[in-house]
Amino acid sequence: MQIKAAVMRATNQPLTIEDVDLAAPGPEEVLVKTVACGVCHSDLHTMQGNIATPLPTVLGHEPAGIVLAVGERVRNVAVGDHVIACTSLFCGACPQCVRGWPHLCTDRGACRRGADDAPRMSNGNELIHPYVDLGGFAEAMLLHFRAVVKIDPSIPLDRAALVGCAVTTGVGAALNTAQVAPGSTVAVFGAGGVGISVIQGARIAGARQIIAIDLNPRKLESALKFGATDVINPDQTDVVKAIKKMTRGGADYAFEAVGVPKLLEQAFYCLAPRGTAVLVGAIAMGQTVSINPGHFFQEKRIIGCMMGSNRFTVDAPHYLELYRQGRLDLDGMVTRTVPLDQVNDAFRAIEAGEVTRTVLTFN
Ligand SMILES: [Zn+2]
Ligand SMILES: [Zn+2]
Repeated sequence: MQIKAAVMRATNQPLTIEDVDLAAPGPEEVLVKTVACGVCHSDLHTMQGNIATPLPTVLGHEPAGIVLAVGERVRNVAVGDHVIACTSLFCGACPQCVRGWPHLCTDRGACRRGADDAPRMSNGNELIHPYVDLGGFAEAMLLHFRAVVKIDPSIPLDRAALVGCAVTTGVGAALNTAQVAPGSTVAVFGAGGVGISVIQGARIAGARQIIAIDLNPRKLESALKFGATDVINPDQTDVVKAIKKMTRGGADYAFEAVGVPKLLEQAFYCLAPRGTAVLVGAIAMGQTVSINPGHFFQEKRIIGCMMGSNRFTVDAPHYLELYRQGRLDLDGMVTRTVPLDQVNDAFRAIEAGEVTRTVLTFN
């Protein structure tokens, strides 16, 4: 089928709205009409060349939609189902998958078409790559069935979409990766879409103190609404000292949700003994972090985080149930909904710090 999509052809160039072709679903594939797709900082990083990806590509990796068609071996969704998609594809058979960590699957290629097969997305003879196997900035998506999960159809799709990346990453970083303990103290560096999700995850986990750190006063104000108990603007104070004072000795957990080496260093230094720093943000290729190793005598830890250590098939419906109960605020995270042709302005709004999330919506 022919659809409109926002195509990235070169770094630092506006995306162009083009007609592209989607193939018919193969046996394990699902054709989804896109209803909404969040615009994530990682899309912007990719457009700017900080994250490498084959070009041309259709960006967008936080989509929700309605199933139009399924291949003959698809069992988890059916035509008409409301679904969200996540980039954490998994083969189901590699050691990581079998040990229960499908987000670290080492054979996600098993979910792709072979090199000799017709491409999922193309424009005449030109192959177009769906970004991270999704390609959500398009009127429809052709996905592997393990990229999608069925959701409660009463949940608005322009809210559910956020669970595809920001919420799964941030809430999952708190609940799955760090396993924040009830009554603990938490510092969150960055109060954008992912940082706000970490704050909500820490609140859901029962943290007693959640300190949000951001340079943008508007984002700090918003962090308080999502569950932060304190805020720090690093422009005005020494962050590490301030956190140590507020927590009376250091945070039990600190999350870096921006992707800046210096912030990961601060996240480590602000910890209490035995505290855990979690790198959630994507630090640009080529940058390095410098840590004074003396702090490791206090048994502090730094751990990585891939997409909130998700098991998307079970996590996504779980998070949406928390939303339905009013315990996870997705409504407040969506600053704007705009049509596909405003995707470049959505990137500008991220850079300007104007939004927690812009969601593209489709008719
Ligand atoms: Zn993302
Ligand atoms: Zn696997």
